[in-house]
Amino acid sequence: MALLTFIGAVQQVTGSCYLIESRQGAKVLLECGMHQGRREQQELNRSSFPFAPRELDAVVISHAHLDHSGLLPRLAAEGYRGPIHATEASCELLELMLLDSAFLQEKDAEWENRWRARQGKPAITPLYTTAHAEQALSQRQPLAYGKTQEVAPGVRLTLHNAGHILGSAIVELQVDDRRLVFSGDLGNTCSPLMQPPARLSEADVVLMESTYGDRDHRSSEDTLEQLAAILQQAHEEGGNVLIPSFAVGRSQDLIYYLGRFYQEGRLPQQAVFLDSPMAIRANAIYSHFHHQFAEQDRAALAARCVRRIEDWLPVLRCTPTAEDSMAINRIRSGAIIIAGAGMCNGGRIVHHFKHNLWRENCHLIFPGFQARGTLGRQIVDGADMVKVLHQRIAVKATVHTLGGFSAHAGQSQLLEWAGNFAHRPELHLVHGELEKMQALQEALRKRFDWHAHIPEPGERIAL
Ligand SMILES: [Zn+2]
Repeated sequence: MALLTFIGAVQQVTGSCYLIESRQGAKVLLECGMHQGRREQQELNRSSFPFAPRELDAVVISHAHLDHSGLLPRLAAEGYRGPIHATEASCELLELMLLDSAFLQEKDAEWENRWRARQGKPAITPLYTTAHAEQALSQRQPLAYGKTQEVAPGVRLTLHNAGHILGSAIVELQVDDRRLVFSGDLGNTCSPLMQPPARLSEADVVLMESTYGDRDHRSSEDTLEQLAAILQQAHEEGGNVLIPSFAVGRSQDLIYYLGRFYQEGRLPQQAVFLDSPMAIRANAIYSHFHHQFAEQDRAALAARCVRRIEDWLPVLRCTPTAEDSMAINRIRSGAIIIAGAGMCNGGRIVHHFKHNLWRENCHLIFPGFQARGTLGRQIVDGADMVKVLHQRIAVKATVHTLGGFSAHAGQSQLLEWAGNFAHRPELHLVHGELEKMQALQEALRKRFDWHAHIPEPGERIAL
């Protein structure tokens, strides 16, 4: 009997991880995500895997976001040497994500060890190192969308476009005579550049994400109008506009939207800075895989002979080096600055906070969710003073949050995606907070009279 164990992203949104065991005993790990958020969550990244990494036959990753892939270097550090399957674009993006993550782990440990030394405490080792990330990256095996490959005896893998970020996949695994479909993170059909998530109709068991299982997003057109109005207001008031953004996905969406405003003559700002080395490198990967963009967006880019995503927004200036970044500090008005980290818990955005947040004519736009415990959340929650780089800074800038740019499907889109399956397969909800899952469970019951199961952490079922 084949088995499925729910290890991570069970009643929560990070640390995605599931183990599949075939009848013949082949073991395939689906996802190897990092726990993110509060300190207790992050501590989970150090707890031992509930399986022996050396005994795995294959690993499959749905997409490059760290909450789905961030523990791959640890898996390699603990002796896993088999293949890591992901789409071609994910394989490229994984290089960016994992090397950056390893660098941060090393820096964090170095910083912590400095104060530990002063207190006479023993030093800690980083969660993993660049060498571990490089080892994991050497095990990548790209698989094109729609192609099928046997990844372990009795286990066949097919990846379908999930439309969430570049390279994101819905994972289909044929395990013995059972077909398992894992939604991965399903894209919002309104997201620019990405194609809508592939609709599948055949499965015996489905694992579906439920990040926004309780609600629909505002329409992206409304959100775009809101963004245009903020930019106009900032222009009239004469200040800069700061946008904290994730490097992969969100930054490219923003460039696409701002480029659209530029083409329509609706972008009053003279300069847009992309102040994120990782986002700049991600742009190159996006441009390389432009043939995977949604047809209408591809046509819009082609009509203006745009090959590189940067060329879509002619006033975009990429600032990869620290010197380039610091030069932005001299600009007092008329600039839009896009920088990481997306939730402001580090990265270059905090330097821009130091120079702009206390200015009344500055505008700060949050294009995405800010998790509890982050600097971004403090500001969204209305703090009038925050601590930035060991200094107290007054929040005088006007703060805006945009609701419609989510890269995840909203409730109606999730229902619609699930509704495509014929014969009502066994349905398990994953990757969501419990209340969101319960809301989605109720909606599925009402709409389809379909009972979805909410697994417990560590639960094991027969496939
Ligand atoms: Zn994701």
